[in-house]
Amino acid sequence: MTDATQFRLLLVEDEPTQRKLAERLLRRAGYVVETANDGEEALAKILAGEFQLLLTDWDMPGMDGKTLCRRVREANLPTYLYMLLLTSHDSTDDLVAGLEAGADDYVKKPANESELLARLNAGRRIVRLEQSLREANTQIHLLSITDPLTGTFNRRYLNEQLALEVERARRYHRPLSAVMADLDRFKRINDECGHQTGDEVLCRFAQLMKEAVRQPLDWVARYGGEEFVIVLPETDRAGAIVVAEKIRALCADNPMAACSGPIEVTASFGVAELVSEAATQSHAAAGEALLRRADAALYTSKNEGRNRVTAG
Ligand SMILES: [Mg+2]
Repeated sequence: MTDATQFRLLLVEDEPTQRKLAERLLRRAGYVVETANDGEEALAKILAGEFQLLLTDWDMPGMDGKTLCRRVREANLPTYLYMLLLTSHDSTDDLVAGLEAGADDYVKKPANESELLARLNAGRRIVRLEQSLREANTQIHLLSITDPLTGTFNRRYLNEQLALEVERARRYHRPLSAVMADLDRFKRINDECGHQTGDEVLCRFAQLMKEAVRQPLDWVARYGGEEFVIVLPETDRAGAIVVAEKIRALCADNPMAACSGPIEVTASFGVAELVSEAATQSHAAAGEALLRRADAALYTSKNEGRNRVTAG
């Protein structure tokens, strides 16, 4: 069982003496306690702060506990708030109404101390479970958009996110550019130094690109093999050429350290800016067209001798 000190609890009770008593009990049990006198004050505190547990009286002037529970659920908080109603209503209909309003559980007044703490313990289990599920989901999402070798974003993320970048650029009439980057003669590195060295070079190249751009605004995705895309929002063709040239020079001037010793590696680049005459295209199609133009420019760089930047 996780220690109670990790839990922030909001206690809502309109009657001052009862509030003091309950507050003391909860603090002794280790909770980090804040209090509110009524539903309105409680709702404002919940929306402003991160609470994991709510213990609320039902009958209060103004917004009552049941309404508070309903309002909290309607607010769709980013993390789960476990809500326990303290009630002197003991008809089944009332209790059902309280649970349907969004309360997780209830305790009848006057509350037995050990029962109240035991029910809050149960609430902590739910909160912990929800936290670990949420963390696992975040981790899974991150894995699903990351290239496992280089740690850049993957093709799937590129497809989804580039369409959003196009949408944003169009809506605010801002420039957007893409750079296709491809290591020169990469096959030879793999053939001569082995695939492990080839992988190291890919990782170094990815790292170099990530360090050269303004993260997180600019981002890098692995397009496939030794080919990467650098997406540059708020950047026009001239600005994108500067970024590509900077990375090209960093690459050409600094042999990459690999286990087998330093390796001279160069890369070629193709630059393209989103064009406004294609505004009838869908955002995704415009993103794909942008990549095709950057790829065509990259092809020119390769044909003209590699280790260079071409803008389409
Ligand atoms: Mg009351």
